[in-house]
Amino acid sequence: MTREYTIVTLPGDGIGPEVMRETTRVMEAVADACSLSLNLQRREAGASHYRDHGVALPDSVLQDCLDADAVILSAIGLPDVRKSDGTEVQPDMMVGLRRAMKLHSAVRPVRLYPGVESCLRTAEKGIDFIILRENLEGLFASYGGGCRVGDAVATDTMVITRQGSLDVCRYAFHLAEKRKGRPSDGKRIVTCVDKANIFRSLAFFREIFFEVAAEHPNIEAEATYVDAMSLYMVQNPSNYDVVVTENQFGDILSDLGAGIVGGLGMGPSAEVGEHHGLFQPSHGTAPQIADQNIANPMATILSASMMFDWLGDRHSDDDCFKAASLIEDAVISVLEAGSVRTADIGGSSSTTEVTDAILSALQS
Ligand code: ATP
Repeated sequence: MTREYTIVTLPGDGIGPEVMRETTRVMEAVADACSLSLNLQRREAGASHYRDHGVALPDSVLQDCLDADAVILSAIGLPDVRKSDGTEVQPDMMVGLRRAMKLHSAVRPVRLYPGVESCLRTAEKGIDFIILRENLEGLFASYGGGCRVGDAVATDTMVITRQGSLDVCRYAFHLAEKRKGRPSDGKRIVTCVDKANIFRSLAFFREIFFEVAAEHPNIEAEATYVDAMSLYMVQNPSNYDVVVTENQFGDILSDLGAGIVGGLGMGPSAEVGEHHGLFQPSHGTAPQIADQNIANPMATILSASMMFDWLGDRHSDDDCFKAASLIEDAVISVLEAGSVRTADIGGSSSTTEVTDAILSALQS
């Protein structure tokens, strides 16, 4: 019997509702093509919800996210919607969701698709790696805490636990097992990025990384410092396969990664734990281009592809794997054809036209 998947969709703010509308069309089409049964449940949360109702993430929506098979979110936050302390609602809501859903790993693919131009001259051997960001601790463990003593001093603390490091390092090797290796020579390799020469916490992270690496002798393991990594990502991006790192480092490096493969409109992401998965583009709400039907929907559509791949893994469901690759192949064929693309990657098509092209590639 076909399994039904309950997917909560959170359109959010800014360009979020537009790119979610298009992604929903793609999810529905691919479900038809793969005989998948999807129960899509649209829920309202985010900055506009906070403005209208005083709460960004209602308890009932959080519960629906916990009960669903997966959650897909587009973007949260509006610059002029602030809490009484002047901060935006986005960090509260996202850190809250990550903690409640125990999403220990954030998977950020850095892939230069055919037909997309990189700003790097060093891109000719191809760019296709994953930045795996530890998602619950590191410097973000301090979120909502931290300490300030008057006008004199303020601190936030880096927290690295054995369990958190094991979770993300194991997931890094799991991903490396599934991949085809780095573009430069096909070698399967996991790179630990840290600052183990300076901080005890990150030396501990590196130690645990090599413990996990020892359980995977078929995959090479190496470690490098985060400052050097930001240089290597520009000089030799084709040398990387899976990169695993602390939360804040991953946050910074993944924007650099998006920058070398066509920008934020091309960057999908997955946040996963033992029991839950949340999928979202790496871009934010881009309020300057909201409501104009010009945002690039590909990052969110590719996030849906990552969602189907994760569901396939989790439920050993070949139909989900098929849905994932159908979506990615359709996006690739539109990019390769070259004539339909949004302005951020050098075209002049609308959000809807890009989705129409993806849907017709999917059907053919
Ligand atoms: P937020 O505060 O929600 O992070 P932001 O505008 O500061 O919003 P992003 O939304 O991440 O940050 O985007 C930065 C810029 O990148 C945008 O102003 C926009 O020009 C571009 N951009 C981001 N996402 C897209 C997209 N999907 N399509 C086209 N351009 C995009």
